[in-house]
Amino acid sequence: MIGVVSDPRFMDHDTGGYHPESPMRIQYLHTLFTRPDSGIMLTEPVCSTIEDILLNHGRSYIDSIARTADSDAYTDLDPDTTCSRDSYIVSLLAAGSVVRLTEMALDHRISAGFACVRPPGHHARKDQAMGFCLFNNVAIAAHKAIHSLGAEKVAIVDFDVHHGNGTQESFYSDSRVLYFSTHQYPFYPGTGALSETGAGQGAGYTLNCPMRGGKRDGHYLAVFRYILQPVIESFEPDLILVSAGFDAHAMDPIGGMQLSSNGFAAIAAVIQEAARDAGAPVVYSLEGGYNLAALKDSASRVIHVLKGEPAPDIEPLAFPELENFIRIHGSMWPLTLR
Ligand SMILES: [Zn+2]
Repeated sequence: MIGVVSDPRFMDHDTGGYHPESPMRIQYLHTLFTRPDSGIMLTEPVCSTIEDILLNHGRSYIDSIARTADSDAYTDLDPDTTCSRDSYIVSLLAAGSVVRLTEMALDHRISAGFACVRPPGHHARKDQAMGFCLFNNVAIAAHKAIHSLGAEKVAIVDFDVHHGNGTQESFYSDSRVLYFSTHQYPFYPGTGALSETGAGQGAGYTLNCPMRGGKRDGHYLAVFRYILQPVIESFEPDLILVSAGFDAHAMDPIGGMQLSSNGFAAIAAVIQEAARDAGAPVVYSLEGGYNLAALKDSASRVIHVLKGEPAPDIEPLAFPELENFIRIHGSMWPLTLR
């Protein structure tokens, strides 16, 4: 049984007209869950406590977001991050829902989770909103899992087309939370170079796989098979959190990658295989994905994989950057081109 959070309340975060991170994204995804499905436990969204948000953000920052609920006007937090009266409460619901699915997964009440939430989270820094993100949903859930849910090690897998700078920062010096990201590079937000591998106790626990645009399913599959899978096998996390952005899809208006919906399913299948071997549950949290049809189709195929259905067979394709990834990350992890 997989746990899913999908609720029209996530449409209440109003970003103004013509914003790509639009309420329609939730409307499209929600149609996947309107009919009863014996393999899916639909779970009510819950508001995060402030104590849980404080695990990753500063109090004065949280207060500044809370104050945006006092005004009927839009508040621009940065050139592309807008919020309005209901945004604060919806962002508490987003973080709380990812935490809720994480609790259920670690309690074995569900085998995997998928949170269809917005605003997204992976660009949100400790004291700064950016890139459509207010609170870092996945980082909060990772902190919570370690702080009070009994997990000792958490792996965060981020396949959004953008680098999750906020998440990376949160755990850059922490060996308990491994951060792995595939992203277009150079690209927004500018971070995520291959040389950013963590610091201090966390050295080697940040794994960036920055790629030029145009990469297809086979290229991504090679990165997940030859890098992510052996890293998870070696790290043995108690939990895997996925920053699931679907903006690397070929139809996405923002990203410059060429993934198909089947490609996302094949990536999810590699994550599931690695998770099974590590005995770790997996919880997905929605990040980007701005072509509505591609978003819905990709998420639907990933959910089929989480329910145990087979993924399409996609042959890994080696490419020059992959050898650099193996060279750099292979100094810490047992990697080979198998
Ligand atoms: Zn993105």
